[in-house]
Amino acid sequence: MSAAATYVCRQFVEDVTAYLDGALPDQVLILVEVHLADCPHCREYLHQMRATIAMTRAITDDDIDAMPPDVRERLMQAFREHRE
Ligand SMILES: [Zn+2]
Repeated sequence: MSAAATYVCRQFVEDVTAYLDGALPDQVLILVEVHLADCPHCREYLHQMRATIAMTRAITDDDIDAMPPDVRERLMQAFREHRE
């Protein structure tokens, strides 16, 4: 069995933040790229992670303080999910 065949969606979920940070070693990056080319589910997951990270990085603490509580709660929920 090739190494690429052993890369599964669960691993991508663990690697996605490192992938987006450009922090994956080359040999893992290749496995991820091969998997993404073959897996629409992980491409969609990657898309959602990019959107979530862009949102959480675009705001400052002052923005969070100024938010309505329900908006802040939704955002913090999304951020917690991103961190897990
Ligand atoms: Zn996948």
